[in-house]
Amino acid sequence: MDFQLSPEQTLLRDKVSEFCKRVIEPRWLEIDEKGEIGREVVEKMAGAGLPGMTISMEYGGQEGSFLEAAIAGEELAYHGPALSLAVMYLIQCSWGYILQLYGSEDARREILPRIASGDAAIGIASTEAHGGSDVASVKCRAVKTDDRSWSISGEKTMVSLPTVIERMPWGGGWFLIARTGDPALKHRTITDFVLLMKKNGKKVENISYTPWTEFARKGLDTSVLTIDNVLVDDVYRVGPVNGGFKIAMEGFNLARTMIGAICVGCARWLMDRALEWVRTRQVFGKPLSAYQGVSFKLADFATELEAAKLLSYKAAWTADRYYRDKQGTLADVAKIGAMSKLKCASLAVDIGEEVMKIHGGAAYFKETPIFRAWLAAFSYVVGAEGAENILKLIVAREVIGKEYVE
Ligand SMILES: Cc1cc2nc3c(=O)[nH]c(=O)nc-3n(C[C@H](O)[C@H](O)[C@H](O)COP(=O)(O)OP(=O)(O)OC[C@H]3O[C@@H](n4cnc5c(N)ncnc54)[C@H](O)[C@@H]3O)c2cc1C
Repeated sequence: MDFQLSPEQTLLRDKVSEFCKRVIEPRWLEIDEKGEIGREVVEKMAGAGLPGMTISMEYGGQEGSFLEAAIAGEELAYHGPALSLAVMYLIQCSWGYILQLYGSEDARREILPRIASGDAAIGIASTEAHGGSDVASVKCRAVKTDDRSWSISGEKTMVSLPTVIERMPWGGGWFLIARTGDPALKHRTITDFVLLMKKNGKKVENISYTPWTEFARKGLDTSVLTIDNVLVDDVYRVGPVNGGFKIAMEGFNLARTMIGAICVGCARWLMDRALEWVRTRQVFGKPLSAYQGVSFKLADFATELEAAKLLSYKAAWTADRYYRDKQGTLADVAKIGAMSKLKCASLAVDIGEEVMKIHGGAAYFKETPIFRAWLAAFSYVVGAEGAENILKLIVAREVIGKEYVE
């Protein structure tokens, strides 16, 4: 076992880090204040190969592994800890990859090169108001109108990226989870689609959205998505009819794997703010770091962070082992991906809270931007690709045994 990054992985990390220092670091605060990711940044990210990181070269991507994608995602989050750019990136890496695995050739050729070039984006539209965790209970319906098309109607909520997609020159949409049969059959009547909201620069009719007001990661928007009899060609079906549930779960596994990595980046940034502060802040004639009540806490967090980073790398490595090397099982990918999101998101939040306290009163004002990273990480504790208890359920099923926990 080798705990060093390979020379290629080190080179990638250094290149992404250098890119982020130049392009992301000077802009992340402004992006979070304005609530908008400028076109220039999207273009620069595409120029650095980021949105196409896991997309194969055949479709214009970098064909990177998930470990490489995680290394790059961690850097993006470290240099832009309000996470908007890192989240946009991780969604492309995970759901773009699922489209590549299971989408029709026409859809792949149309959409993937545009994601890689920064002209389109893909998100995930799964959650519905009656309960996001229970994906098998979705009500959004897709009905076949003829051999070639479907009519989709329903409402999704807390769907990220609508305005990002709207601003893309070509467009994009979401990996959408829909009901295509008797709801009583739960996960056995679910089919996945790519629902485009904008295509060839033109808005698709009958899709509208109403934004929620986010209190963090403000460069992104998250909305209620209303879909009213939208005609969708069968080429945008992803995977078999009524076989969409398992594919969607694969996408969540990969997204959680990537979330672990970006939460490590966010936690590292928060930790560095703490280290800087405790070395320089003098209280009662000594630096804060001289008090063990402070230094021991940071020692604990440094230990936890090291463990979280290894777990996030292991999750990405497990995904690569399954998808690239054809070894291991999907259950391994699901379990370690869930563990990684669980551990890394809550650690980033815990470190964030402590760093706020260490900063004293100054932490309570917007001028000290720590709260932006703290709240951004919090989105991954309460929801966004699986709330905490759902991740625990996945892990419990694997470690205790499905038959004992249900
Ligand atoms: C910032 C943000 C961005 C998001 N972006 C997207 C997006 O792009 N696309 C999308 O589709 N969704 C998105 N979501 C929604 C997210 O996926 C859901 O919030 C999440 O799946 C949980 O669903 P819910 O909020 O309806 O909570 P519920 O499912 O109602 O769960 C509420 C609570 O109950 C717990 N719980 C649920 N089931 C169980 C159980 N069986 N046992 C024990 N406890 C349980 C949960 O852990 C949670 O604490 C986003 C959410 C946030 C906060």
